[in-house]
Amino acid sequence: MFWADKLLENIKGKQVINDSFTPSGIVHMGSLKGPVIHDTLAKILKEKKTEVEFRYGFDDMDPIDGLPANLMDSHGKYLGEPLFMAPGLKKDETFGDHFSKMMENLLKDLDIKPDILYRTSVLYKEGVFDKAIRIVLDDVEKVRAVYEEMYKKKLSDSWYPFQVICPNCKKLGTTKVTNWDGKEVEYECLSNLVVWAKGCGEKGKVSPFKGNGKMVWKVEWAAKWFTFGVTIEGAGKDHASAGGSYDIAMELVEKVFNAKKPMKLAYEFFLAGGKKMSSSKGLGITGDELLEVIGPQRTRFLMVKTEPNIAVEFSPKDSLAIPSLFDQYQAFSKSDEEDHKRVIYLSQANEQEDIPQTRFSTIAQLVQMPNTQNELKEVKDWVQYAKIWIEKYAPESEKFIIQKGVPQLNFSDQEKNYLKIISERLAKVSSEVDLAAKLYEWSAEGMLTTNQAFAAIYKALLGKDHGPKAAALIRSLDQNFVKKRFEEISKL
Ligand SMILES: [Zn+2]
Repeated sequence: MFWADKLLENIKGKQVINDSFTPSGIVHMGSLKGPVIHDTLAKILKEKKTEVEFRYGFDDMDPIDGLPANLMDSHGKYLGEPLFMAPGLKKDETFGDHFSKMMENLLKDLDIKPDILYRTSVLYKEGVFDKAIRIVLDDVEKVRAVYEEMYKKKLSDSWYPFQVICPNCKKLGTTKVTNWDGKEVEYECLSNLVVWAKGCGEKGKVSPFKGNGKMVWKVEWAAKWFTFGVTIEGAGKDHASAGGSYDIAMELVEKVFNAKKPMKLAYEFFLAGGKKMSSSKGLGITGDELLEVIGPQRTRFLMVKTEPNIAVEFSPKDSLAIPSLFDQYQAFSKSDEEDHKRVIYLSQANEQEDIPQTRFSTIAQLVQMPNTQNELKEVKDWVQYAKIWIEKYAPESEKFIIQKGVPQLNFSDQEKNYLKIISERLAKVSSEVDLAAKLYEWSAEGMLTTNQAFAAIYKALLGKDHGPKAAALIRSLDQNFVKKRFEEISKL
C-alpha cells in the first residue's frame, strides 16, 4: 500500500492539517517537500470523505535573523525586525510579503490549494493567539519545566517564552521579557542578546496581546496546534531529531495546553552526493528552478514516491538525475502496480498531461538536432523541459553541437574512407531506418567496427566521439551539408 494511504488508513474524525513557511529568503527546492506531503495527505483524506481543514501559514511575525550578502547593504538595518514590518525588495510590499508571494506562486503551480492561508502577524494582531499567550505566561513554570526536562538545564525565574516588538526600535529579535503581572509584560531591548542584531536599550512594560509581541517559536508551534486543533503536522528532519523543536512542541501542547499531540511525521532531506542539499553550498536548486526543468508533476512525484523518512538522493547539476527521474515517472505511469498508479495519480497538478512514449534522454538529443520538429510533436511540454535541462544542468557529455566547420581532429584512413562511402551513397537512401541498416553494412566494407564507424560520424559532425543515434543525426541535417562535410574530411 502507498505509504500515505497506510498512514491515514485508520484515521477517524475531523482532521486539521497544518504546515508553515518562514518567508525570509528564496524558496529552496527542499522547502517544497513539506507542502507537497501535507497536500497529498489532505487530498487523500478528502477522497476518503473525511472532514479535513488544510492550513498553510507564513510565519511573518518571525524576526529577520540573517540576510544573503546581496541584501546586507539595503536591509542590514532591519535585522531583528519582524518580517512583516521590514520593507520588501519592491514597492508596496513587506520583506515577508516578498517571499510569501514566491511560495504562494509555487503552491499554485503545484496544485496545492490550502483551505486556509494565513499570516501569523495578522493572527497575532487579531488576537487569535491571545488565549495561548495568556496560558504560556500564566503557566510559565510548566513551560520552563518542559524545557528543563528536555535540555537538562535550569532556566532562570525571569525567563519567559515571549518577545515583544520594541516600541522604540521596532526590533523583536533583541527583546527579552523578564516579568508578567497578569496585564503587561516587562521587557528590555538588549544590545547583546543575539549576535545578528543590536537592540536599543529601551526598557518598559507593554500588553503582550493583539500583536505587540510573539511567543518564541517552539512554544508558538505548540500554540498553533492548540489554537487550530491541529491533528497532523509533519516536520523536516532538522526540527524532528530527538530532543529537537518538534519533540519540545509535542511536550508543550500536552503539558502546557492540555491538548492532544498531532500525528508525528518526520521527513528526510534531499541529498546531493550523499550530503544534505544546501543552497548556500551551491548544491541543489531553488523551487522555481526545479519546476522550470521538471514541471509540477515530476516535482510532486519526487517528493512523494519515496517514504518520507528515507532520504532521497537528487543532484540535478552535471548529472543524469533529471533524465532518470523522467524515466522513472514514465515507468510508474505504465506500471500495473497499485502503488505506482497511486503515486502517479497523486503527482498530477492542475492540467492533465499526456505522458510521451519517447524517453527524456532521446528528447534531449532531438532538441539539439535541427529539423526534428515532427518527431517532437508528440512530446509537447517535455521539449521545453529537455531544452532547459540541456542549457542549465546537463553534463558536457550530453550536449551536442553541430560543428560549423571541419573539426580539428585526426581522422584515420579507414575513417576517411568510411565517410567517403557515406557521402557518395547518401542521396540514394530513402529513410532513417534504411540509413541505419546501411551505416552498419558500410562499416564492414570500410573495415571498421560499428563503434569506430559511428565515432567517425560523430567526430565529423559534432567534434566528439559520441552522440545520439547516428542515422537520426544525419537525417536531421541538410543532406548536402552532410555530403559536403564528409567529402571534405575524406580529402584531408
Ligand atoms: Zn529597541
